[in-house]
Amino acid sequence: MSPRTVVRPVAVVGAGVIGRSWALVFLRAGCPTALFDSDGAQLERAAAWIRSQQDGPWRPRVCDSLPQAMEGAAYVQECGPERLALKQELFAALDGAASPDTVLASSTSAFDMSDIARDVEHPQRCVVAHPVNPPHIVPVVEVLGGQLTAPAVVQDTLQFLRGVGQSPVLLKKHIHGFVLNRLQFALVREAMHLLDAGVADVEAIDTVVREGLGLRWALLGPFAVADANNDDGARAYFGGYVDWFIDLMNQLGPTPALDKAFIERIARELDDARGSTSREQVRGWRDRMVVEIRRLKAENPLHEEQEQRL
Ligand code: NAD
Repeated sequence: MSPRTVVRPVAVVGAGVIGRSWALVFLRAGCPTALFDSDGAQLERAAAWIRSQQDGPWRPRVCDSLPQAMEGAAYVQECGPERLALKQELFAALDGAASPDTVLASSTSAFDMSDIARDVEHPQRCVVAHPVNPPHIVPVVEVLGGQLTAPAVVQDTLQFLRGVGQSPVLLKKHIHGFVLNRLQFALVREAMHLLDAGVADVEAIDTVVREGLGLRWALLGPFAVADANNDDGARAYFGGYVDWFIDLMNQLGPTPALDKAFIERIARELDDARGSTSREQVRGWRDRMVVEIRRLKAENPLHEEQEQRL
């Protein structure tokens, strides 16, 4: 998992859950990293969290103003709250403070860069780089431009993020929820439907993913799983069962009502399944295991090309 580093001065703006984790990604890759948050207490908390990480003496340059954070930055990762008006204002301020060829990337989970960069003088250098929480553990990043983003900036962002050890993917156009959340919620919707229809309980559905689908999906995506499932590959797999697949897809459940009682039922079943183990313990175990899985994959690449990508 050692990153092929492209060392660049970075500024992380917004030091919440995502910002502090991004800062750790850049620091670990050897990039001098400035950190700014409009809330001084939040900034201190984030800096303390980064310093407390056991894998290195990581020290961000803690800044008490935006212009100070922008000084010398070649790449900015914006991590402010998910509110369009605030991101628009913040991007206008970043654009005014950063030197002209600095890349301005947003961690937004939903907004179109064409909207975020609406009031920006140099929209060609503005790009979305949507991480998964937390990016220092889970490496995929969805990268896409707005209507006015320069294609070279998108390519440069992909290359830089690969260089700091992430696994960026290019999205060719904006769509609400991007790819990751759309895939996630397609599965969550059906899981809720199965629960609501009385087919299986929460623990059984989670087990099907944890001990079934999820084990393969950490190695191969849904298309590659289909290709490997048939001796003659995806053509035979999809082509051989067209009617069955379409019939099944047409029977998938509708969006659930998600009312209070239903949410309470899910939460109660989860509490029972977790027993005396705290949520904090679950999170810590999950993060350690994800790191182990990434290490195993990096040490056992399927082929040369994959090795280069990791
Ligand atoms: P958060 O609320 O934890 O942190 C946001 C931080 O921005 C706060 O510390 C706040 O003080 C600061 N802030 C507010 N206005 C600011 C300004 N003008 N200048 C500088 N800092 C300012 O939010 P988060 O969960 O870290 O999310 C940050 C971004 O990342 C959002 O766009 C979110 O959609 C995206 N994201 C979040 C997750 C997640 O699971 N939390 C996952 C992927 C992407």
